[in-house]
Amino acid sequence: MVEPIANQIEQGTLVYDASTNKVGEYLGKAGPYAMLRPVGGGREWEANPGSVRPATPEERLSASVKAANSRSGEGNSVPYDISTPPSPVPDCPSCADLAALRHDARARGDGTAETDANVLLRRHQHRDHDARRHRRIFRFVPYAIVQDPGAEPEYEARCVSGDEDDCGAASGPCGDPATVEEWQRKHTQETRHTRYRRSFADYAVLAPQP
Ligand SMILES: [Zn+2]
Ligand SMILES: [Zn+2]
Repeated sequence: MVEPIANQIEQGTLVYDASTNKVGEYLGKAGPYAMLRPVGGGREWEANPGSVRPATPEERLSASVKAANSRSGEGNSVPYDISTPPSPVPDCPSCADLAALRHDARARGDGTAETDANVLLRRHQHRDHDARRHRRIFRFVPYAIVQDPGAEPEYEARCVSGDEDDCGAASGPCGDPATVEEWQRKHTQETRHTRYRRSFADYAVLAPQP
């Protein structure tokens, strides 16, 4: 006796049921039947294991496209830019899977499956890659960088003289460089320390250029 093919199918596999002409996810056996669930969810059905076989790549793709379309309630319309094929986002497993399906379809010369793969890739990217969406929304705006007139710039010096450890004496934040130099001269007079680390800080604001 030949084993029904459903016995060799792993749970979760997408299968084609010849008796209903539908693609479903194989859930397991229920008595003599193979339990199948429509792609994208819905009411399960019991199939004759003899009429079930693993779905072909085209069948899987078109079932996924149908499910995506009915989920979004947009019928068959594709509300995305379809003038150029989408490119996979690096390091995204979903993009890689769909790009591989598209590659296989192209290699087979199967234009329908290739289009389906592009549809799924666009949907996935629209849903899961926010950066792509934002890139469409934000226009390029040139900015000018200017010092914030409302905040004083700060000058500071810290003595780094010393053989083992730095001296560490510091001027503290000063509003102008002359004050810092004055402090350095005084510190050198008192200690013969001659090496300082100077720092400067200010606030910068970016203003859109007209
Ligand atoms: Zn992706
Ligand atoms: Zn010092």
